[in-house]
Amino acid sequence: MAEQFIVDRMLGRLAKWLRILGYDTLYWRGNDWRGLLEKGRGRIFLTRTTKLPQGGNFQRVILVRDDKPNLQLKSVIRELGLKIDEHRFFSRCIICDRQLEKIPKEEVKGRVPDFVFSTYSEFNSCPGCSRIYWKGTHQENMRKKVLELLSH
Ligand SMILES: [Zn+2]
Repeated sequence: MAEQFIVDRMLGRLAKWLRILGYDTLYWRGNDWRGLLEKGRGRIFLTRTTKLPQGGNFQRVILVRDDKPNLQLKSVIRELGLKIDEHRFFSRCIICDRQLEKIPKEEVKGRVPDFVFSTYSEFNSCPGCSRIYWKGTHQENMRKKVLELLSH
């Protein structure tokens, strides 16, 4: 099974990138440690703080030192030796982390821009927030950006 993460409130953009890559990533916005410890059980905790809570059952804790989200992503991938699988890219909602599901084209009519509807034939939707995803230029650009980042 792929790695699962929980990230603290300082790392929202890193959380989005991990979701784009297909990793189950919780974004902990709260302030209370107890909730974090409970939600984070068995997950890899990515944090900017050195004041770590005691008694966690995290799989591992990684202190993220970089300021820029792309460098944060790169260093986390390197440190954990993650195997990036392009087939998992864009398999999760970047907003709520749910696994996306295929949705028939006719069901997205009126819910995506007309040019998108006429150009693309495969769509996914999020069972959590109903957001619709498709393999457009936006996804292609993000895919290139990630591969470029990891290539050197
Ligand atoms: Zn969603």
